[in-house]
Amino acid sequence: MKTYRIATIPGDGIGKEVVPAGQQVLEALARSTQNFEFQFENFDWGADYYRQHGVMMPADGLDAIRDKDAILFGSAGDPDVPDHITLWGLRLKICQGLDQYANVRPTRILPGIDGPLKRCKPEDLNWVIVRENSEGEYSGVGGRVHQGHPIEAATDVSILTRAGVERIMRFAFKLAQSRPRKLLTVITKSNAQRHAMVMWDEIALEISKEFPDVKWDKELVDASTARMVNRPATLDTIVATNLHADILSDLAAALAGSLGIAPTGNIDPERRYPSMFEPIHGSAFDIMGKGLANPVGTFWSVVMLLEHLGEFDAAKRVMQAIEAVTSDKSLHTRDLGGAATTAQVTDAVCALIGKTVAHAA
Ligand code: NAD
Ligand code: MN
Repeated sequence: MKTYRIATIPGDGIGKEVVPAGQQVLEALARSTQNFEFQFENFDWGADYYRQHGVMMPADGLDAIRDKDAILFGSAGDPDVPDHITLWGLRLKICQGLDQYANVRPTRILPGIDGPLKRCKPEDLNWVIVRENSEGEYSGVGGRVHQGHPIEAATDVSILTRAGVERIMRFAFKLAQSRPRKLLTVITKSNAQRHAMVMWDEIALEISKEFPDVKWDKELVDASTARMVNRPATLDTIVATNLHADILSDLAAALAGSLGIAPTGNIDPERRYPSMFEPIHGSAFDIMGKGLANPVGTFWSVVMLLEHLGEFDAAKRVMQAIEAVTSDKSLHTRDLGGAATTAQVTDAVCALIGKTVAHAA
């Protein structure tokens, strides 16, 4: 029997509700199989830790998670701590520290979910957004001087490197190649941003030659929002810079029914470090502590975590349980127009997992 070592980092807000729910699902799964077990270690990093220690996570925190097999993360963000401190002090510190350069965000309309697009059939919307996760607009390079004076100035410098663009393009083309439609859309803004985004386009063209069986096209980021709404079926795999993909994937999640459903993986494709899986939503201050958070985004992230570990049978069983639960409107949380609680949805998914049979490894 294999043992997987999992770090859980609930963080803040509803992260503290959905990550334990995700752990419950993994525990239910482990009870139902002889193939593997999990060893969890929980880390209480986040805004409460910040209030006690002045930092979101300890300086040597990365060393405590570096040798895990995967990380399950909740959210960083607190009503009383500025967002740039919580985000940079925890989530970005882990993503960049462990060089999880590919952020992968699958989106589709799950059974039983009513998306907002009237003319969109569920099968029309089946996307994976690949977000460059290590540089670009979120490089963290910049500065602020003369604070409070009329001559105050501030910069956030977006940096793209050839190495960074090559590796994310190669990852995206490879992912597109592995999907049935072998279709990639490269999002750009090279009409207005005439240096780095032009290099981005050129490198896309270069890398495309390594993947002659992948059809690909280019779309300006602003036009791509309209295309997502009006012609969703023309998209499959999508690659974009850090900021562009951040925005497009929230739109994608909303078009698929709710921010509460969407999962993501922060992946180190070279597997030098553990990858980190999390729902794409944040701390959801308006509903935190009330048991109203939709845990499906976390459960789908658990599916991605299992796939990353190579446990495809287990991943499929969790996905089937999720889809059975979304098909049942009495198990919809408030974001989906229902009245179910986090605990009810979690119990239902765990019960379904307990009823299915694991195949031998
Ligand atoms: P948010 O995702 O927290 O909430 C946006 C809206 O969606 C809210 O109305 C919320 O109630 C709803 N929502 C989100 N997830 C839900 C779920 N699972 N179930 C039901 N409803 C859900 O985004 P925000 O309000 O812009 O940000 C709040 C805080 O979270 C900020 O501090 C922000 O910086 C942080 N944040 C963190 C991450 C992260 O750590 N990955 C991501 C996004 C936002
Ligand atoms: Mn975001």
